[in-house]
Amino acid sequence: MNRKQFRQRIRQSLANEPLQIALDANAERRVKGRVAAFASLPDWRERRQKAHAIRAEVIERLDSYLEQFIHNATQNGITVHRAKDADEAIQILLKIVKDESFVSLRDLRGKELLIAKSKSMVSEEINLNRALEAEGMRVVETDLGEYIVQLRNERPSHIITPAVHLRRHEVGQLFHEKLGVPYTEDIPTLTNIARKVLREVFLTADVGISGVNFGIAETGGICIVTNEGNGRMVTTLPPVHIALMGMERLVRDFGDLAIMLSLLPRSATGQKLSVYTQIIHKPLDGQQRHIILLDNGRSHVRNSPLKESLYCIRCGACLNACPVFREIGGHAYDSVYPGPIGSVISAGLFGSEFVPLAQASSLCGACKEACPVDIDLPKLLTRVRAGLASDAQHATSLSPFSAFFLKTYARLATHPRLFALSQKFAALGTFLLSPFDDHVRLPAFTGWGYGRDLPRFAWRTFGERYAGKQADERTDKQVDRYPSRQEDSSVMATATPPPQSEINKVERFIEELTKVNGQVVRATEKELTGRVVEFLRSRNINRIHLEPNVLDEESLRGTGITVSREANAAIRVGVTRALCGLADSGSVLEADGEGGRLYASLLTEIHIAVLRASDIYPSLENALHLTRGTKSAVFITGPSRTGDIEMSHTIGVHGPGEVVVFLAA
Ligand code: SF4
Repeated sequence: MNRKQFRQRIRQSLANEPLQIALDANAERRVKGRVAAFASLPDWRERRQKAHAIRAEVIERLDSYLEQFIHNATQNGITVHRAKDADEAIQILLKIVKDESFVSLRDLRGKELLIAKSKSMVSEEINLNRALEAEGMRVVETDLGEYIVQLRNERPSHIITPAVHLRRHEVGQLFHEKLGVPYTEDIPTLTNIARKVLREVFLTADVGISGVNFGIAETGGICIVTNEGNGRMVTTLPPVHIALMGMERLVRDFGDLAIMLSLLPRSATGQKLSVYTQIIHKPLDGQQRHIILLDNGRSHVRNSPLKESLYCIRCGACLNACPVFREIGGHAYDSVYPGPIGSVISAGLFGSEFVPLAQASSLCGACKEACPVDIDLPKLLTRVRAGLASDAQHATSLSPFSAFFLKTYARLATHPRLFALSQKFAALGTFLLSPFDDHVRLPAFTGWGYGRDLPRFAWRTFGERYAGKQADERTDKQVDRYPSRQEDSSVMATATPPPQSEINKVERFIEELTKVNGQVVRATEKELTGRVVEFLRSRNINRIHLEPNVLDEESLRGTGITVSREANAAIRVGVTRALCGLADSGSVLEADGEGGRLYASLLTEIHIAVLRASDIYPSLENALHLTRGTKSAVFITGPSRTGDIEMSHTIGVHGPGEVVVFLAA
């Protein structure tokens, strides 16, 4: 895309009123959510620096960590493939899904192969859906936002909220036309429609494809974080799971992972933990698990001035913070990766065609400030602008206008008198362009400043002010007026909750679970079965999926309740014993095991987790080791949820809509 085409797309976005409304709402809520979430992390600054160091170390010694990861994952029974580019990744994937033994195993000859996909930016990067569909396969996106954009035959417009550019009436009309349902603008109804359609896909899919948030070199495991439950479905139900992973997405060990997970969901969606934080180490019984590690230009970027862009953990915070992205949205960039980080990695991975994207930045620094791994995005953006993309042979030269501007600036900057004079003109210019002046109460000549953050130049030089002349207060007010940055700093600086050790873990657990719409019932071990029966009766439920040795089954039968151990989507309640709870997030840990434990917490409408108070840990970093040795484990933080339609918080998407913890003292 050349500069002219990019400008044209920008103009179209700015003229699109519904898009402007949708973008404003998204940015505001995301930024507020992020600020609130970081308020519960008093040492966030240290964690951010640690995260930066972790990513720097991994990228520096990537070959050795990759070797360790591949070795350990293979030992765990996962088949790991390496793909140098998009074509190779697609060929590997096709080979897996066309494997003869698998086809005969599933008796699929003559049938359309059904692939259920959860969100994966790597799959977008290699244009996977088109390649699979060209082979006659049916691919269904199962993340609500991705499903919506797939039905519209569009690309995601944001790396976290793919349908951020749409409003509810557009989704209502889309579902009416494509799914034949009555038109509605009610978001819970729309979500429920998608749940019903996609439930069928999960239960019949032959292959599940997911992305990967982090690979853990020390254990060979992968971590996937989602909110809706579709990530769990596609990695658990189909007989084949294929995880697509950018080769740079590694951490060294659980310690690193804990740091990353304390930052990623807070930055992405304003949550302490996503609803489902999965740690997968092995295939489930009867399942094939594959990981495809994609290079596709990453090695090249690693040896380029854009290396730091590989530290990115795809949280999307820089997009939400960027004043340009907030105005033009993701589609204007015409790249899989939009926004500040997208402008850098698109140029780095895909070449000089994407260099003009870096012009869409005011270099205000909001992106760097928002980044949980402290990537110096303004520096990288200026490098891309200067033609320092990894694709050096396509390096761009300066436009005649830029060359003229820089020459003029150099002349001014090297002559003190000329420079001082230019500052006076600049002060006048910014005064006229800004919308309103607090003191003089003059309307601006243009409305330009209404939509942009234009810092005003000082009316007097620093020397003049230092010498005691009266400072111009108006200037001071205008200089630092980027609201989210001020808000960020003040909230983050003042938030100092009491140390963990002083807090009663049980009370904290209850408080946190309640905040994320979970419920807690307290009981003694002896009372447990009776209390669960009371709950079931209150809901008119007489059949449950129960993990062995959790409740007194004889008593249950005596009350007329039927117990099943099978994964069955028709059963409304699943009862498990949680391996542990987390006090600082209200999460419970479930893992594979006897009696279909994972399914009981996934397929049902209501998940009942029995938890011993003594099994509550302070936080995730204390409990990650419990996932070692499991095939698949998941920290569940409240009921499944989405914010994919107009950022409206909707409970109960693909996973259970209720999580009830019976807390045994
Ligand atoms: S660059 Fe930073 S803020 Fe932007 S998506 Fe990556 S990790 Fe998040």
